[in-house]
Amino acid sequence: MPSLERWVYAFGNGRADGSAAMRDILGGKGAGLAEMANLGLPVPPGFTISARLCLAYLETASFPDELSEEIDRHLKQLEQATKKRFGSADNPLLVSVRSGAAVSMPGMMETILNLGLNDATVQGLIAASHNPGFAYDSYRRFVQMYGDVVFELGKEPFAEVLEEAKRRCRVERDIDLPPGELEGLVREFKELIQARTGKTFPDDPREQLWGAVEAVFKSWRTRRAIDYRRVHGIPDGLGTAVNVVAMVYGNLGDDSGTGVAFTRDCRTGERRLNGDVLTNAQGEDVVSGARTPEPLSRLRGKLAPVHAGLERVAKKLERHFKDVQDIEFTFEHGKLHVLQTRRAQRTGAAAVRIAVEMVRERLITEDEAVQRVPPQDLDQLFHPTVDTRSKAVLVARGLPASPGAAIGEAVFDADEAESLARKGHNVILVRRETSPDDFHGMVAAGAILTARGGMTSHAAIVARGMGKTCVVGASEIEVDAEAGRFRANGRVVKRGQMITVDGTTGRVLLGAAKLVAPKSGEHYAKLMAWADARRRLRVRANADTPQDAKRARELGAEGIGLCRTEHMFFEGDRITAMREMIVAADETGRRHALAKLLPMQRHDFEGIFDVMSGYPVTIRLLDPPLHEFLPHTAPEIAALAKSLKIPTAALKRRVDSLVEANPMLGHRGCRLGITYPEITEMQARAIFEAACRVVARGRRITVEVMVPLVAHVEEFRRQATIVRRVAQDVFHAEGRAVPYLVGTMIELPRAALTADEIAREAEFFSFGTNDLTQTTLGVSRDDAGRFLPFYIEQGIIPVDPFQVLDQVGVGKLITMAVRLGRGARSDLKIGICGEHGGEARSVKFCHRAGLNYVSCSPYRVPTARLAAAQAALAEAGVVNRTRATV
Ligand code: PEP
Ligand code: MG
Repeated sequence: MPSLERWVYAFGNGRADGSAAMRDILGGKGAGLAEMANLGLPVPPGFTISARLCLAYLETASFPDELSEEIDRHLKQLEQATKKRFGSADNPLLVSVRSGAAVSMPGMMETILNLGLNDATVQGLIAASHNPGFAYDSYRRFVQMYGDVVFELGKEPFAEVLEEAKRRCRVERDIDLPPGELEGLVREFKELIQARTGKTFPDDPREQLWGAVEAVFKSWRTRRAIDYRRVHGIPDGLGTAVNVVAMVYGNLGDDSGTGVAFTRDCRTGERRLNGDVLTNAQGEDVVSGARTPEPLSRLRGKLAPVHAGLERVAKKLERHFKDVQDIEFTFEHGKLHVLQTRRAQRTGAAAVRIAVEMVRERLITEDEAVQRVPPQDLDQLFHPTVDTRSKAVLVARGLPASPGAAIGEAVFDADEAESLARKGHNVILVRRETSPDDFHGMVAAGAILTARGGMTSHAAIVARGMGKTCVVGASEIEVDAEAGRFRANGRVVKRGQMITVDGTTGRVLLGAAKLVAPKSGEHYAKLMAWADARRRLRVRANADTPQDAKRARELGAEGIGLCRTEHMFFEGDRITAMREMIVAADETGRRHALAKLLPMQRHDFEGIFDVMSGYPVTIRLLDPPLHEFLPHTAPEIAALAKSLKIPTAALKRRVDSLVEANPMLGHRGCRLGITYPEITEMQARAIFEAACRVVARGRRITVEVMVPLVAHVEEFRRQATIVRRVAQDVFHAEGRAVPYLVGTMIELPRAALTADEIAREAEFFSFGTNDLTQTTLGVSRDDAGRFLPFYIEQGIIPVDPFQVLDQVGVGKLITMAVRLGRGARSDLKIGICGEHGGEARSVKFCHRAGLNYVSCSPYRVPTARLAAAQAALAEAGVVNRTRATV
């Protein structure tokens, strides 16, 4: 039965059936082409086949009956618009067939150019162009791409034949091959396809078109496309549209060419048209990195009208879409055609600068600027750079494609990069050029280095999108992936050898260079001021030392939400006193050791209070299983026994007696302070003595003492009683009082379920979502790595719940605990201090759940601040008025 849905949408000659608002149907590329046609920009005519067909086709492997007639009708229109005929031997219409999903997935899916060529139509192309070299170059490209994409033979076999032909003819570039040679290549490619697949290459242009459409749809499900969607959180259910566009030719000679232009610099955000261009070339040459393109500015001298035309197009598109555009173009005998426009991927630094400058240019509002920048991208502003005084040896130079600096082992294969990274190695993926099949390796690597390719090559764009350090086009490097090494300037770098990639300057250095912490600029300050003025959630940091606290303040933390006191004891020889306390046989022994720990804790707390003057500081009582501090190896036990002056065997017995089968659910958290109250006493004393000393120096502080791992209100009551008693003792002795609260972590389901009972005793709550996730899901946070990746790969769960809060499950406990807690104590202060406190989606959830603050590691504070502002804007119904940008 024919369906009522329309499947094909035309565009070109100043009008289109669709518009930018129809991305779901037309995909980003189709929507952009339609919108540009409506704007009167020079778009070649064509039509888009709906993305709605993609998933249906993938399920059933068939098309609706009426599709064939719809496509034929649109082909006819296209013939009229171009005054050419599909399949004609006189003046043939050729088309490109390109994918395009609603969300941009650069280079992840397929493209076929020059479709419609066969041995007869190529003669028509020669007659029309008077250029046999061009005609056979186009034919050769078509068969090559078709063999790769439709016959699924990949790029390699064709590239090998092509390389061999270039060697034979002693030419460097494909375009320098003589027409006869290109004609021969077409034959060879077709034979190759026949030999490998047993199928004959289709001569009928209609058959070619259907094959290409099916292949584009199928490319939605390639591994690289699936991986890309997973990394970027793109739903699998979107599908891709197919764009069939009349060909314009960039390979007609030196007054023709193709390129990519960005309306602003996507690395720095600077407002200047920039990009890459290749003369006498077709689209894929630029993106694939097969030839290294020239900077766009070169066009100014050589082909000034093309450059000026591009400037006009860029300006118009930016004004229209109110966002930076990434424009694909071709010029044919000096006439400009725009083939695509989309929202440009950018680094975090560029995103910030662009958003702020667009407000100054009155293109967008402050609210929009705040909503524009992805919170997690702020992280990139704090990437380290190579210390300029670093003495590292320079191996090679390339293009600085994505800033930052990374140190790692050179690895030459994406699979290996992935598996080594899983084992905890820092790796740098080194490739001649990357292809979308390398995507998983790029995700795993700390940086990417390629010998070929320009600033818009696959590696550059993908790395920039991920905020990953990247150097491309380091042409001095000769990569031998098989042998696992590269040569450059007389040096050899072997697999596993340490190198430093400096994506800010384009340098590749031998060994591990000294890195320096980054600085953020005035644009960042401006954006964050706008964000801070809009958010309701406060943002604190998890910090355990005065140094961390200082860094947290610099990054905008408004207090400390979690100071894990135990971390202070891993430093230097403090561990010995801690161990002495743990292995003590009785209370007297413990008190003796605790007396040594007291001044250390007090000293650290003083430092933290000093830095955080004027802000609240939450200090958590001892939490981890004691065995984490125990000596494990024989020499460690012997050394501790010696310093404690007890027999090694006796100490070994004591250590063995403390081993637990399931320590995370064992003797930890408040259970320690309940069984050994003297520990809580010492910690409370250290906290309040430090507080009194700091206040005596004129500082203002609010102390929040937090009890961990409470399941039952009585546990809290007993710990709080000790803390309050010690506070009174200290205040009495010091002759001054300091404001303080005693509260609890909510990190066990029972605590959430009985939050009303607990709130009657506790003055604040802080959700420990690391443990709350662990205990709600029954998934050990230390062992999840063995099976969670598989779960995510299989689509059982969408994301790692230890990174992104499980809003449906754990989130339900949180909202319930907030309601119960505030029901019992209306002014209950509530925060979160699990890792989720620095993850943008989870922060937005915390806003909606009515929390007072989030607390996260210092470097994630800016992300949390911006996410909190976006949550407030979303709640107020302020929508990003930017036109549906493509
Ligand atoms: C938590 O469980 O979320 C938490 C913050 O505590 P920790 O990670 O120290 O167990
Ligand atoms: Mg915890």
